[in-house]
Amino acid sequence: MTVVNNSSTVPGAAAPFTLSPLPYADNALEPIISANTLGFHYGKHHRTYVDNLNKFIAGTEFANLPLEKIITTVAGQPEKVAVFNNAAQIWNHNFYWKSLTPKGGGEPPAALKQRIEVSFGSVDACKKELASAAVSQFGSGWAWLVFDGILLKVIKTANAGLPQTMGLKPLLTIDVWEHAYYLDYQNRRADYVNALLDKLINWEFAFQNISE
Ligand code: MN
Repeated sequence: MTVVNNSSTVPGAAAPFTLSPLPYADNALEPIISANTLGFHYGKHHRTYVDNLNKFIAGTEFANLPLEKIITTVAGQPEKVAVFNNAAQIWNHNFYWKSLTPKGGGEPPAALKQRIEVSFGSVDACKKELASAAVSQFGSGWAWLVFDGILLKVIKTANAGLPQTMGLKPLLTIDVWEHAYYLDYQNRRADYVNALLDKLINWEFAFQNISE
């Protein structure tokens, strides 16, 4: 059998997983997120999740499964928590990089804006709810804009948690692990979150995810 070095971004790709390329240069999100932060976050933290997952699943029943299938298969199994944590963190980071864009923020596409207004009242109210979830997540985790099939909602998850295991469709996410902001903002998580929402959030990506 030929071993193919698949990328974790390709649907259906299996192990060994590789670190997906960043969708922009490592200084493209400055001054909101520095190249220094991005270098450590992507090049060290994200890469370590990829390396660890490959180690944990080598020679196991998970070695031939796509990333998404590994995540849903091991979710909620206490003895498989290390596999879940590393697989979910690979997925979450791939999704986080795409949730940001150098010319982000501003007005969502009209069709998304309409859904936001139906669900939250206004774009500002949606951003406030996202910021509140991101700031109030105790310890490490993620804030998410999700679609429940009818309305958009904001949720937060701890550690590597993700919306798919709750039957919700993720639209965009904000990483609130300290490694995402500490070099630039130290303890000021709210400043990181608000700057990200104003200048980097990728509404176009969120809109694409509703119809996918
Ligand atoms: Mn992270």
